[in-house]
Amino acid sequence: MKLVSDLHAYVWDGNDNNCNTYVFARCLKDGRHVVIDPGHIVTPYVREPGLDRLTGGMEEDGLDAKDIGLVIATHGHTDHCEAADALRQRSGALVALHQADEPLYRRCGEAVDVYLEEGDLELGADLKLGLRVYHSPGHSPGHIALYWPAEKALIGGDVIFHRATGRVDLPGGSAKLLQQSISRLSELDVEYLLCGHPYGHPGIIEGREAVRRNFDYVKRNMF
Ligand SMILES: [Zn+2]
Repeated sequence: MKLVSDLHAYVWDGNDNNCNTYVFARCLKDGRHVVIDPGHIVTPYVREPGLDRLTGGMEEDGLDAKDIGLVIATHGHTDHCEAADALRQRSGALVALHQADEPLYRRCGEAVDVYLEEGDLELGADLKLGLRVYHSPGHSPGHIALYWPAEKALIGGDVIFHRATGRVDLPGGSAKLLQQSISRLSELDVEYLLCGHPYGHPGIIEGREAVRRNFDYVKRNMF
């Protein structure tokens, strides 16, 4: 589904756990796409075909998985990046994530091509897509969030959800760091908060006021 401008959202609607995927269409050289958090190839418990559903959804929007140029993982958990390596092999895409999550990623992927760090990330031959990477640890050590100033969209991964936060009980998790990450991201000017999972809500929170209310709710109730 096209959300705004070149940004497409694929909200997971299966029964098993899997992540939402976001795609910046045709923003790289030769019209290639950037995929953020491709999720599971097949979900672990009820064996739903996560990757096939993602590529099927992209096809409906006219986006071919063979034309992916870059796969970004917000973090190294399998429910966000298990399919990264498969897409890398299918399309020749590079895989990018924060170095601190490489040990987690290695459980499901072969190689990391690009390490992402806090700061500007300018993509495309004519720097068509300008993103800002925010290192946002707490759910995992190398978790990143991606902010797109052009449309004020924040791809938050597993930092914050609709009225909930990411887990901190997994290896490398830290409640204190997650709290700091949420506080920092809450200061951004956000029209679209794009969450990493559809937990009781699709995970797409639209409108500056709704986003602010969600950050306020989480800070009041979870900290
Ligand atoms: Zn996670």
